[in-house]
Amino acid sequence: MNSQATDSWRQSADRDLILNAGPRFELLVRGEGSHLWDGEGRRYLDFLAGIAVTALGHSHPVFVEAVSRQAGTLAHVSNYFATPPQLELAARLKRLAGAGEDGRVFFGNSGTEANEAAFKLARLHGGAERPRILSLENAFHGRTIGALALTAKASMREPFEPMPGGVEHIPATIEALEAAMDDRVAALFVEPIQGEAGVLELPEGYLKVARELTTKHGALLIVDEIQTGAGRTGDWFGYQHEGILPDAITLAKGIGGGFPIGALVAFGPAAALLQPGSHGSTFGGNPLATAVSNAVLEEIEQAGLVRNARERGVQVREAIEGIGSPLVTGVRGRGLLIGVALAAPVASLVVSAAQRLGLIVNAANASSVRIAPALTIGDAEIAEFTDLFAAALAEVAATALTETNA
Ligand SMILES: *Cc1c(COP(=O)(O)O)cnc(C)c1O
Repeated sequence: MNSQATDSWRQSADRDLILNAGPRFELLVRGEGSHLWDGEGRRYLDFLAGIAVTALGHSHPVFVEAVSRQAGTLAHVSNYFATPPQLELAARLKRLAGAGEDGRVFFGNSGTEANEAAFKLARLHGGAERPRILSLENAFHGRTIGALALTAKASMREPFEPMPGGVEHIPATIEALEAAMDDRVAALFVEPIQGEAGVLELPEGYLKVARELTTKHGALLIVDEIQTGAGRTGDWFGYQHEGILPDAITLAKGIGGGFPIGALVAFGPAAALLQPGSHGSTFGGNPLATAVSNAVLEEIEQAGLVRNARERGVQVREAIEGIGSPLVTGVRGRGLLIGVALAAPVASLVVSAAQRLGLIVNAANASSVRIAPALTIGDAEIAEFTDLFAAALAEVAATALTETNA
């Protein structure tokens, strides 16, 4: 595209889009594996994967084949009918999550919808006796009103108040949980790693204590695996690192590999709370979305990508530490969900420097860069990443650290 065309896409974006995340950075037109191309033919290494979504990378043959095959077979019916891909995906998610015979799955189309379903599950469990719902400080659970009530950031919630009642945000410490838990709590919502907050891990042993305390007080433990699930952290789901079983998990992002889908998997007695008439979604669980999710999860399993996430995660982390940038004060996260802590609030400068150099990463907050590449990455992608990220850090360090010291 010439510069006139470039101007015109920006003008269209400003004129026609509700810019939910601010001005669009680039116009992207094509993707293959871990690379993306913009409208002017520039190539980018994608170490964000649409925010932990394109687990197989872009245009993976398995994804393309599944979309095409199912679109040409049966794309949509309604919740009055079952379809083979839907039944297969429900059984697969139960198996991968360890939800057991009693487990049940509800399908929606996004993460926030999965959390809305979980919120309703919590209300049905709580009734009038248990009005309290606990969520954590820095939590992100989505943007629709129920999920937004669970989300911690006040600036996201306040313009839309009043929120549904009963939600309390407590610090993400074992002590705060012990102090907050009682028999009036319907549910505790947690992310195994808080991705949107900058890839913050829970304290060691938190989920074990959360399981004990919720069981003791008869509350549900609901784990939001929307960002951490589908193998990203080096296990299928984040709670599996702590060897516990929750009462429900919510899924989206990576399970569709780029096709919109969300799911609530309920375990044990919690699986019987939502009954016919309690909840629904016209698109939820349609054969197209569930067939693609089956193919994506099957490929993650067959190609050993959960293990790859674990091993490549260690390699990426070592590569970042090896850069030795004075801007980097720590590397957080697990598997291929990585947060780079910076010495100054310059994450957006690092992200734009990286983008100019041809690398896509994201500023999860002012002083953290989030890295979440496809689970398929290997040595070549990591080497390319290391060079580009080192150059971006060097560019920003040259100005940021002198300014900070001045
Ligand atoms: C992305 C995300 C959501 C919201 O998912 P959407 O598909 O954007 O609605 C909820 N919880 C977590 C932990 C997420 O990362």
